[in-house]
Amino acid sequence: MDLSITPLKEWGLPFKEKFLSVGPCSAESEEQVLQTAGGLVDQRVGFFRAGIWKPRTHPGSFEGVGPEGLKWLGRVRDELHLPVGTEVANPDHVKACLEHNIDVLWIGARTTANPFAVQAIADALKGTDIPLFVKNPISPDLELWIGAIMRLYNAGLRRIGAIHRGFSTSKKVLYRNTPNWKIPIELKRRVPDIPLLCDPSHICGNRELIFSIAQEALDLLYDGLMIEVHRNPTEALSDSGQQITPEQFIDLIKRLTVKSETGDSEEFQQRIKELRHEVDTIDEHLLKLLGTRMEIAEKMGDLKRTNNISVYQPHRWKEILESRQAEGKEYDLSGEFILHLFQLIHEEAIRRQEEEGGRKYADNPILWKIE
Ligand code: PEP
Ligand code: MN
Repeated sequence: MDLSITPLKEWGLPFKEKFLSVGPCSAESEEQVLQTAGGLVDQRVGFFRAGIWKPRTHPGSFEGVGPEGLKWLGRVRDELHLPVGTEVANPDHVKACLEHNIDVLWIGARTTANPFAVQAIADALKGTDIPLFVKNPISPDLELWIGAIMRLYNAGLRRIGAIHRGFSTSKKVLYRNTPNWKIPIELKRRVPDIPLLCDPSHICGNRELIFSIAQEALDLLYDGLMIEVHRNPTEALSDSGQQITPEQFIDLIKRLTVKSETGDSEEFQQRIKELRHEVDTIDEHLLKLLGTRMEIAEKMGDLKRTNNISVYQPHRWKEILESRQAEGKEYDLSGEFILHLFQLIHEEAIRRQEEEGGRKYADNPILWKIE
């Protein structure tokens, strides 16, 4: 999808190698906001974040300080010269932020999941071009995420970014919100110009894990990070276990390494070119062989049809999978990889065998048959 989204470096916000959004989960008091921001002044922070209205799972939890907090953010901007941003969930929030000259807005995961709410926010933003980030919806649904981005784009916003904060799951094994990297990677493929930040704080739910997720995001060429920082995390009124101090944040940033997509070294360029050439040649062979394999599948389809034999043969499929997984081991290919690869190949072969007869499987029956 070709959208004319303004590149992050042209948003007019501080940007070093990567874009950083840093600050507490919630604004709790004027001192907490100013002290936390005070520890971040020299860090070229893209914007200082603090939630004013907090969407909490249970009523009675700390639900944010409300518009009062916008004045505190105003002091951070005017006295500490940091751009400031907060989460909006409805048109009243948008109106209050615009009145207080908040620099950046973001839409939270629960709101992105609700097209009515996103549309109401988009309508309230018509005629402005305030920078705005859209967090992924809580469910692993890329279309909802893209839909929300499109509603804001259609309202005229051009400084739009996305934030990957992980996806809610019933199995909370290691992470609070499972990263499911495939979804943000697919978002970048579908909407290549969208700036993408990673929010390791909400993915991890635990400060000990933040470094590894932040590094993974940089390895995947994300444009920046959103990290929750509190002057005293243990006394935080929300998300206490995942916040770090400004000092820990500075140390974290120093330890992270930034990767680039293209290197300057000539030796690297030469070698990568050679290796890519090898890969291209192998892919060419693979495609040719796959084409031939499918032609044979069609011949098998004709043969089965004339003999009134079923196209789908559970025993043969079991045998194919088991033997390919065993052979794959010799080449250091994991059983899971072989399963995914041959599911796709087998599914296509079945489709090609069925095609002549005119009957097509509606929705991938093979996958549920073999599970
Ligand atoms: C937040 O950023 O504090 C927040 C509520 O995040 P999310 O919408 O990702 O849960
Ligand atoms: Mn939070």
